[in-house]
Amino acid sequence: MANDKLFDTYYKCSKQGCFYRCKVKKDMVKHDTEDHGESKVKSMQKQRGNPENLLEFGVRKGFIPKEYGNWRQKYIATMDIECLECEFSGKREGMDRDIVMEQKIVSLAVGSNIPGTEPKFFCRSSSAPKAEEDLIEEFTEHLYDLRLEYLQHIPK
Ligand SMILES: [Zn+2]
Repeated sequence: MANDKLFDTYYKCSKQGCFYRCKVKKDMVKHDTEDHGESKVKSMQKQRGNPENLLEFGVRKGFIPKEYGNWRQKYIATMDIECLECEFSGKREGMDRDIVMEQKIVSLAVGSNIPGTEPKFFCRSSSAPKAEEDLIEEFTEHLYDLRLEYLQHIPK
């Protein structure tokens, strides 16, 4: 060999699946004890809580047919509420904190991917408190209708 200094010498870890290598033997000893030896830190993850969901529980107990064990509901309803910030006008007696502003509901929009439904928009007709009551009533009635529609699309 003309000049063997051109070839690098490495210590290679002999453990299967390990590609560690180093130039100094001391590093290899360190690697072996820290990464393969007794000083290696092992941690175990423990599952907490109940891993069984209610659906699986129902299937296991025989309340729900087995074929629905993996059933997932895919329908959602979302809503957006617009409010107007005003000076607080309610009663202040008996309050343990000072409320300066309040939110007055202006409008509500509801959308859902339940088949046969369309996005709905509700707006209060005036700033009278009764108009707010009516708006909330319209809104909850619509949620009830959505629920009836939804019930048509889940297994009986
Ligand atoms: Zn190794």
